[in-house]
Amino acid sequence: GPNPESADDALAWLKDRQDWPGHFIAGAFHADPQETAMKVENPATHAVLATMPVASAATVDAAVAAARAALPGWRGLGPQGRARVLYALARHLQKRARFLAVLETLDNGKPIRESRDIDVPLAARHFYHHAGWAAAAEVEFPGRAGWGVCAQVIPWNFPLLMLSWKIAPALAAGNTVVLKPAEQTPLTALAFAEICREAGVPDGAVNIVFGAGDTGATLVAHKGVDKVAFTGSTEVGRAIRRSLAGSGKGLTLELGGKSPFIVCADADLEAAVEGVVDGIWFNGGQVCCAGSRLLVQEGIAERFYARLRDRLARLRIGDPLHKSTDIGAIVSGDQLARIRRLVAEGQAQGGTLHAADAALPETGHYHLPGFFTGAEPASTVAREEIFGPVAVAMTFRTPDEAVALANNTAYGLAASVWSENINTALDLAARVRAGVVWVNGTNLFDAAAPFGGMKESGFGREGGRAGLEAYLHPLADDPAPGPATE
Ligand code: NAD
Repeated sequence: GPNPESADDALAWLKDRQDWPGHFIAGAFHADPQETAMKVENPATHAVLATMPVASAATVDAAVAAARAALPGWRGLGPQGRARVLYALARHLQKRARFLAVLETLDNGKPIRESRDIDVPLAARHFYHHAGWAAAAEVEFPGRAGWGVCAQVIPWNFPLLMLSWKIAPALAAGNTVVLKPAEQTPLTALAFAEICREAGVPDGAVNIVFGAGDTGATLVAHKGVDKVAFTGSTEVGRAIRRSLAGSGKGLTLELGGKSPFIVCADADLEAAVEGVVDGIWFNGGQVCCAGSRLLVQEGIAERFYARLRDRLARLRIGDPLHKSTDIGAIVSGDQLARIRRLVAEGQAQGGTLHAADAALPETGHYHLPGFFTGAEPASTVAREEIFGPVAVAMTFRTPDEAVALANNTAYGLAASVWSENINTALDLAARVRAGVVWVNGTNLFDAAAPFGGMKESGFGREGGRAGLEAYLHPLADDPAPGPATE
């Protein structure tokens, strides 16, 4: 399209931060010249956007100590005081929405339309929602209080939104936090640190340390941490779970998925095709709950695939800053290589790849969107999370077969069911083992609704009442601790 969003102010903002201000600890930026540096790239151009410090154990120590020191003050603010701070954060996120959307797109490669219409508004909404909880939690959950210091580690696919999912409920429940963003996408977290100062967040209530997996491991293992919340790969989640066994720390894990997208013969096919666009091509398929396994009823399969191929041909792939772009860049060279490896394996194992027939930009980490047919349920692409814009389609004959196929996975994060018959839809929805099941829709999020997995997809919920509860701990001296009744 002829209409790119201007990145001038975000680039000027980055230029002003070339002398890297460091980690956000106790309300100020701390740089340690001893620390190593990491470069942050724009995946669409390979341009270096920033050079970031990698937090040492001493820096992690300082951040945890700052969070601990801030606890009495944060709790002392009381429900209304904490609610006011969360409202202020929400308002500041809205005020800086355009800037944050551009920064997110530069850093992550996702289409500006998505960061502008989805990531940033939902992040603000999460703080608004949890401002309400901050005011209400003490009354709604008698005998419970925050855990204390929360360590939060997040991935790169929704950097600002995942930060919000972590920080908003933790603060609302009276905790203080140390958050580590993903090494690939730290920039909106840096902007958020500045917003904390503008919004009047008390020093030390929010601390942000930058770095990669080692920093994350040091943070979650720190003895001064009371609760850990992690979103990322199943492999790392499993390692964290093992390392925390017996530590007494609270833990919630939000991991991978291979979510079924069940299209019944009586589905509104046009809506279901748009569902696939939102389910697996949204954010380049780099979505934990992506509808990556298309289960299509036999009688309509060929018609449905034909429509999907038509739709693929109309997806606009390229510069994430263009307002009309549907498919932007993949977050990093490593992730692109992983997607390519899995797709090649799918072809080698007999699957047929239907890919968009489009030219990719010459620079940048891009992958064509598409879908597989003819892949065996036991094949790698049918089982493993590709985490790219490629779905795997399989057919079923009966609802029982659909359920069996849907549940034939180690994961259980999400599912969607497409049918014009509400009985069929609700029957299937009840039998699919997944934390969330959407009917005639997909990838719909609301701060008031709980989100989270079963099986290998993790445990604990984010959002809604259950999401707040994950950040509350029974008071030891309370005679009747436990969740309040509704
Ligand atoms: P990852 O799990 O390695 O990284 C996620 C976060 O955890 C990052 O902040 C990282 O620095 C940190 N981390 C890494 N090792 C750690 C450790 N030992 N202890 C504590 N923190 C640690 O994920 P990745 O390598 O970026 O992506 C690999 C795959 O994970 C993807 O291809 C995809 O399948 C999956 N993934 C899932 C999600 C999700 O939302 N569930 C998000 C991103 C990636």
